[in-house]
Order: sequence, then structure tokens, then C-alpha cells
Amino acid sequence: MSSVECPIFELAYVGFEVTDLEAWHDFASRVLCAMIVPKPNGLDLRLDARLFRIRVEKGEADTLAYVGWGVTDLQALDAIHDRLIQAGIKASLDPDLAASRGVAHLLRFVEPGGIATELVVDPADSDVSFESRRAPGGFHTGELGLGHLTLTARTREESERFYRDVLGFRLSDRIVTTLGDFEVDLVFLHINPRHHSLALGGPQPKGMHHLMIEFNSMDDLGRAFDRASRAGCVATTLGKHPNDRMLSFYIRTPSGFQMELGWGGVQVDDSDWSPATYDRIALWGHHYQETS
Ligand code: FE
Repeated sequence: MSSVECPIFELAYVGFEVTDLEAWHDFASRVLCAMIVPKPNGLDLRLDARLFRIRVEKGEADTLAYVGWGVTDLQALDAIHDRLIQAGIKASLDPDLAASRGVAHLLRFVEPGGIATELVVDPADSDVSFESRRAPGGFHTGELGLGHLTLTARTREESERFYRDVLGFRLSDRIVTTLGDFEVDLVFLHINPRHHSLALGGPQPKGMHHLMIEFNSMDDLGRAFDRASRAGCVATTLGKHPNDRMLSFYIRTPSGFQMELGWGGVQVDDSDWSPATYDRIALWGHHYQETS
């Protein structure tokens, strides 16, 4: 695959459509440790200074609604717009949507897996400083962005081509293995020092498999595990994947898709990185838990 410049520097935000707003309020507060800003038809979940990192809106479905990626400036956004046109993808600038997302510019298109995608410039910070009583150490965002997303794809090959060749995401590594009868073929891509901001495999029923957010403090992660256990939403035990080596566990959101809560993930230095292929999904742990 060709190497193209990537002016996308972070996973900026995600939007979820959810059927049970009350359940999400409780889940976001108790388990995610997010700062919650109630909105007329939803919730803004804050993990740092930004206006929101996760926007939850009430609707008919429980699904990923859109994904926002941060772009360095308007000139870079124009350059990506040209690349999208060349790739046969229709994209349009949307000032109204930009205003509602609190960004200066927003280019919207649908990526190959069918997900509404927003490339944004200058996402605004809130006037109110960030504070989480349950995660006093805060979240590892900053230059690493919101976290990582395992997104649906019609095929891994098609989506990998798009994100690497059109948008310029860089290869971190792969996991190719079998889990029972299930063939695992995952590619992990990065756009900043976070080991991966995006993972792609195959189709996912709700537009995604999971969104990962990372704590600054291992103790905050441990306390989140205790609270998730009490809330009965733990999907896997604590564990580590062989590639990003993040201490993490998975939880079931009230919308059926999962989230991963982590601490201490590997960071990539592009000047000294060789992509590997791993033959297992876990170094240890991450054992599946039945719904309690
Ligand atoms: Fe993950």
C-alpha cells in the first residue's frame, strides 16, 4: 500500500444513538467515570477539556451514529476533500453540523463500512473545567485523542485500503488467529503515538465492536472494574492484548455494544516501529463473562 501524508491527528469524538437515556446516564457516571452535561435530547460525556468526547442522543436504535476525526487545519481538510473525490466518495462541508458539534469546520461523508464520518477542524473546549470525582486522575487524551475504535467493515481489506491509502492512517500491526470456529483477521492503525486509534476486522452489528478509553491512573481503572462488577456489566476479565499491551477489561454498554477501559497502553514511535503479526488475541486474561 502506498504511503500518503495523514493530516488526521486524533479520534476527536463519537456519537451514539441510544434508546435508554436514563440507563446511559447511570452507566456513564458510575462505570465510565465521565463528566455528564445533560442536553435537551441526550447527554454530552466529557473526558477532558473538550465540550464532549462522546455524545449520546435518544433515538429508535442502539448504534454508533457517527465518528469525528480531528484534522490539523482547513487547508488540510481541503486536501483530504480532494482525495475523497478522487476515491469516488461524496463529501460535503456542513456549517450547521459544525456549529452543533462545536467545531470550526466539518466535512461529512460515509466511509466504506457505512459509518457517517466527520473530519473536523478546531473542536472547542468547554468553559467549565473538567472534573471527575470517580476518576480523579482523569483520562489519557491530549495528543493521543479520545481513544480507539474497532469499527465495522464490509471487508477488512476494503476498509484498510480506504483508511491507509486515502486518509493516510499508518499500520501498527495485525492479529490473525482463530477463536473456536471464528476467523480473526484484525488490522490496527495509528495516526498519533497511541498504538492504534482504529482497528478493523469484519462486519459488526451496531457499527462497531468497542470504543476504548484510557485512564491516567491504574487505580482509577481498578476502581472502575469494581464498579462495573457491582453494576453487572463486565464483559471480560482484566487482561492484555499482545500488541498494545494495555491493561484493560471490556464492559457491556446499555446499547449492547461494548467499551474497553484501559491503562498504560504502548505508544508508537514511527521512526523505530516494525509492524508485526500476532497469532493470539490475548497475552493473558480477557476471559468472557456471562451477563450477570
Ligand atoms: Fe481495543
